[in-house]
Amino acid sequence: MPSNPQQTYWLHYLWIYGFVILAFGVVWEMNRTTTKTKKPSGEARPDSIDAMVFAGASQKTKTPMLRNTNHTQEFEQFKTEVERQAYLYPQFFLLESPSFQKKVALTFDDGPDTTVTPEVLRILKAQKVKATFFVVGFKILRHKALLQQMLDEGHCIGNHSFDHPNFKTQAWPTVWQEQVEKTEKLTEKLTGKKMRFVRPPYGQLTDAQIKELGKKDYRVVNWSIDAYDWDNQKNDPEAVCDRIMNNIHPGAIILMHNGEKRGNTVLALPALIRRLRAEGYEPVALDELLATMAYHRSAQE
Ligand SMILES: [Zn+2]
Repeated sequence: MPSNPQQTYWLHYLWIYGFVILAFGVVWEMNRTTTKTKKPSGEARPDSIDAMVFAGASQKTKTPMLRNTNHTQEFEQFKTEVERQAYLYPQFFLLESPSFQKKVALTFDDGPDTTVTPEVLRILKAQKVKATFFVVGFKILRHKALLQQMLDEGHCIGNHSFDHPNFKTQAWPTVWQEQVEKTEKLTEKLTGKKMRFVRPPYGQLTDAQIKELGKKDYRVVNWSIDAYDWDNQKNDPEAVCDRIMNNIHPGAIILMHNGEKRGNTVLALPALIRRLRAEGYEPVALDELLATMAYHRSAQE
């Protein structure tokens, strides 16, 4: 212990300086962590999901976002709604991967179909790309072999309902029994795969439906970039490619289609894959992008 009074005097000040610096540090860190994530106004996020950590994802967080690929009022309304839902249910409702790695997912809705799907599969195989197909139940019944080919070639499959209604217009028991479960049972019987990823037609469902699916451990997967390949006024192959590349970002989920009359999607695909890779982005299947299982344990296993 110091016995010299001069020494005690200086030590006393050293303690005060140390404390002031520490207090500044604590205030700085609290301010930094609370302002990092922009919250939609007026929404309270449940405490329990704040602690969510995606396996393999960065510790940093992103605010899930639908990139602007259209500037109509209808698009803006849809964007506001899905961003609100992605903010409220970050475990169950996804627009993109929270990871900052330069991986993206190509997702194809509305198949299988006998003209477009085989062409999409052929290009993906030639380019060694794994993608994700959100399949429609009644089309699976017609094109069973294509569903199996998707799986045999290493792609993911997800549930895109049985006959493509807007879930928001239907009650939960109907959505569950007539759309999600019906398609799931059909697919499980044919392939042994019990799909965990669900994409509602038009990307629309109610908050209550998200919660019900979440309780059953499904993942509702929408998209962060809409290619607009479904819109005949906007789906020139080059425009589709440009639209995606102008909005590309790490963790992107890209909405495309492989149903009937989507020939322009096939034409856009080789250039799209080339341009993604030229910018350092690797297209992967959704289970890899989201670092989560694509399928539930099946009763057949
Ligand atoms: Zn669809």
